[in-house]
Amino acid sequence: MTRQTLVLGRLFDIRVGVHVSWLAVYAFMTIALARALGMLPQPEAYAFGAVCALALFASVVAHELAHALVARRFGVRTSAITLFLFGGVATLEDEPSTPRTDALVALAGPAMSAALAVLGLVLMVGLDRALPGGALRDALGLLGTYVVLANGVLAGFNILPAYPMDGGRVLRALIWRRTRNRDAATNAASRVGIAFALLFVAAGVLVVAATHELLYGWYVILGAFLLRQGSSQERATRTTPVTPDGEAIAAA
Ligand SMILES: [Zn+2]
Repeated sequence: MTRQTLVLGRLFDIRVGVHVSWLAVYAFMTIALARALGMLPQPEAYAFGAVCALALFASVVAHELAHALVARRFGVRTSAITLFLFGGVATLEDEPSTPRTDALVALAGPAMSAALAVLGLVLMVGLDRALPGGALRDALGLLGTYVVLANGVLAGFNILPAYPMDGGRVLRALIWRRTRNRDAATNAASRVGIAFALLFVAAGVLVVAATHELLYGWYVILGAFLLRQGSSQERATRTTPVTPDGEAIAAA
């Protein structure tokens, strides 16, 4: 954790904090979601946006905790979970020692996000049946939709085989198991990761050029970040939040 990190507390004996860059994400998400909900009176829309942003925060922490707790199960401690501009990071104090444990630790995060998406969907259907029609049911329905989409994106995006994202770590573990050489596997997975990063940059530039929607420039920034971070040992999670109407907005 750096000096720009605010420590919020401890969960399962792991420090949980937010880097100041996450606060920008939080403000942006609240405003973007409030704008997407233009049909509500302004204060309610902003309050609702803030609740959704809080749900995103909890979803990313749950994703990182899944990595950390599975790593602990295999004897690797996690000193901190930090949320930052691009999502979350679980700082593992060591690398898992076998390809199998490395893959299981990597899969735990997306598995948690996928499980939360399914749980959200089940809860939504249940509440929709249990509650009478009205503003409360509508608001819970929107929040549920956001939670399901955000966790679905957290699972789907991070499982892309773009090292050092989770899917890239699974790819590295598979190569590691075949070659029995972790460094060679890391190099091979990193090359795939760099290809994905370049793809994000190119796709971002093309979409911005085609739509003149500057928000999609986010993918250019994300690609550049992935390029720079290709060799990092941190287990980071990328988030690409989604507004309730299903449009991917360019945040975190
Ligand atoms: Zn992850």
